Amino acid sequence: MPRSSLLAHILQGIFADRQSKLQEVPAGQGSASSGSAPVPEKREGLQRRWAGSPWRTAGTRARGTWGAGGGGQARDSDSPLHPQEQVHRSTRSSPPVHRTREAGGEAVNDILGFYSNCAIAWVVTVATDIGINKYLLKLSPLQPEFRRGMLYAVNPVGVVAFVAASGLSIAMYFHALGDTFQPYSPVAAAVIAFVLTPLMAIITKGKYYLRRTDDGINEPLLDGDGNPSALTYDCHVCRQEFERPDMTACLTHDATVCSLCLSTDKTADHVLSPAPTT
Ligand SMILES: [Zn+2]
Ligand SMILES: [Zn+2]
Repeated sequence: MPRSSLLAHILQGIFADRQSKLQEVPAGQGSASSGSAPVPEKREGLQRRWAGSPWRTAGTRARGTWGAGGGGQARDSDSPLHPQEQVHRSTRSSPPVHRTREAGGEAVNDILGFYSNCAIAWVVTVATDIGINKYLLKLSPLQPEFRRGMLYAVNPVGVVAFVAASGLSIAMYFHALGDTFQPYSPVAAAVIAFVLTPLMAIITKGKYYLRRTDDGINEPLLDGDGNPSALTYDCHVCRQEFERPDMTACLTHDATVCSLCLSTDKTADHVLSPAPTT
């Protein structure tokens, strides 16, 4: 489906929802009719309510007093519309258009529903890695690391936990494990991620977090107060100055390189070789 068409579906779904809510207001006030009551009755209810409404201007209200004139007085043809009725009129649509809007709303529901399982799996994996693997099991390094060459390309801890949790919960969401389990797919995403993240860290003994601990620059990363060092270095690739925590040594060219140039290095020329962690 083209992107513009999907966007139109989303907008139609939202408007269809708002429209149905607007229609329910007069119906609920006037009678006990359900959402499927014919539209003319609803409009009558709205007009009756309008007759005694303080929204009427002074001129159209002249024959009665506020609150007391609610007894089925017909609205003057030249009187202004109630603001809600203006919206109601402008959003009314024919049944086929309405059905299209409902279908659009369902598609959005499906997309958001299955995507939310991925989001839950992701958030629980990260939170469990920080809360349990880092502070409780002490298998995950305390200082965050992001520079290429310092990390492994893939750490099975997060990858296995996230892929298993989101994959299984999405399968449940689409009824792959039967209708009974379908409503519990978000719970499954959270539980699987919560169990697998520490389990994978224990199985791998936390070996795949750091590829090496020494970035080749003698100056320590943190200053005496424990804050990131503000010393600057020149990147030999982009010729810009960056602070110490963003820099890594390049042994190939005996220079320093910034994290962005390191990440975009196609030939991996500036990337440090793997070394045993200390
Ligand atoms: Zn650079
Ligand atoms: Zn280099």
